[in-house]
Amino acid sequence: MATATLTIDLAALRSNWRALNEMTGCETAAVVKANAYGLGAAPVAKALAQEGVRRFFVAVASEGAALRDALGPGPEICVFSGHMEGDTALIRDNALVPMLNSIDQMLRHVEALPGTRFGIQLDSGMNRLGMEPAEWSALRDLALAQKPVLVMSHLACADEPDHPMNAHQLRMFREMTDGIEAPRSLAATGGILLGRDYHFDVTRPGIGLYGGLPFVDALPVAALDLPVVQVRPVAVGESVGYGNSWVARVPGRIATVSAGYADGILRAIGPKASLWAGETRCKVVGRVSMDLITVDVTALKDVPDTLELLGRHQSVDTLADWAGTIGYEILTSLGGRYDRRYSGA
Ligand SMILES: *Cc1c(COP(=O)(O)O)cnc(C)c1O
Repeated sequence: MATATLTIDLAALRSNWRALNEMTGCETAAVVKANAYGLGAAPVAKALAQEGVRRFFVAVASEGAALRDALGPGPEICVFSGHMEGDTALIRDNALVPMLNSIDQMLRHVEALPGTRFGIQLDSGMNRLGMEPAEWSALRDLALAQKPVLVMSHLACADEPDHPMNAHQLRMFREMTDGIEAPRSLAATGGILLGRDYHFDVTRPGIGLYGGLPFVDALPVAALDLPVVQVRPVAVGESVGYGNSWVARVPGRIATVSAGYADGILRAIGPKASLWAGETRCKVVGRVSMDLITVDVTALKDVPDTLELLGRHQSVDTLADWAGTIGYEILTSLGGRYDRRYSGA
C-alpha cells in the first residue's frame, strides 16, 4: 500500500446515530458540516439517510448545495449561517433551509424568496450566532406568522454537564420560545447527554456520530493506517529528524511512515504520540515532518507494511490529548491526501 488510508466505518457511524437517537423521544438530525467533520459528507449523509435521518445541518450554503447533489430531493438541509448576501440562488436551487440569524437576514429572506422554508436561530447566551432576545421580541410575531420550520439555539458549555451555563441557556431558550407552535431544537451531542429537558423536538448531534467525546460510549468511526516507506538501523548517539530533537541511547531501528502535519497529524503530538504494529506500541521519535513521521520499531521482529495511528488502540480524543486540543480539530484536520475507504455500508 503506497498511500495512507483513512477507513470510515459506516456501520459504526449508523450505530452511534441509533444510540443517540435512543436517548431521546424526539427527532434526531445529523450535523455534516465541514465535510462531515472531515470524513466525507456524501457517503456519511447517505449512510445516515438509510438509517432514517430526515434532516441534515451544514455550516454554509455551498456545503448544502453539495449535499443536495449527493442526497437528491427529500431530506431537509438546514444552513446554520442563515441567508447571507449572495446565497439566494443556492438556497432556492437546492431547496435549502436557512436558519435566519438576524432581522437583516429575515428581511433578506422574505424579500428574495417569499413563502420558502426557513428556520430561526436564537442567541441564548453564547453570543456567536442568532437573534438576541430584544431582536427576537421585536420580530417574533411577524416571524412566527411565516411558520418557521425550526426555532433553534446552541449551548456553549454542554460538554461540561455541571456548568451553570447549561441551565441558564435552557431558561433563556424557554423564555424566548415557550408556547410557540414551531418545532424547537437546543441540543447537539453534549446537550443530548444532559437529558430530556434539553431535547425539545429535534436534536442535532455531530461529533458523537463520528466517535468523539463527549459521547463516551461512541464506537470509533475513523481508522488511520500509515504505510512504512523505509526502515533503518540507528547506532547510539545518532539523531533522527529535524532539529536533532531525538538521539538514540541504545542501538535501534527507525521506521519512516508516509504522513505528516500536512495530512493533519498535528506537529504538537510528536513528543507523546505512538503508532501501533498489531499489539505493540511504537513511539514516535523526533519531530513530525510535513509528509513523514519517524517511529521507533526496535521492539518489532518484523515491521509490518503499515502502522496504525487511529484505530482500536487510540481514538481521535487520544490524539487530541497529545496535542492539547479537541477531537473535533483532529477529525476536521484530516488531510486530502488520504485514500478514504468506506466499510460497513
Ligand atoms: C457544530 C454544531 C452542532 C453539532 O455539535 P456537536 O458538538 O458536534 O454535536 C450543532 N449545532 C450547531 C449550531 C453547531 O454549530
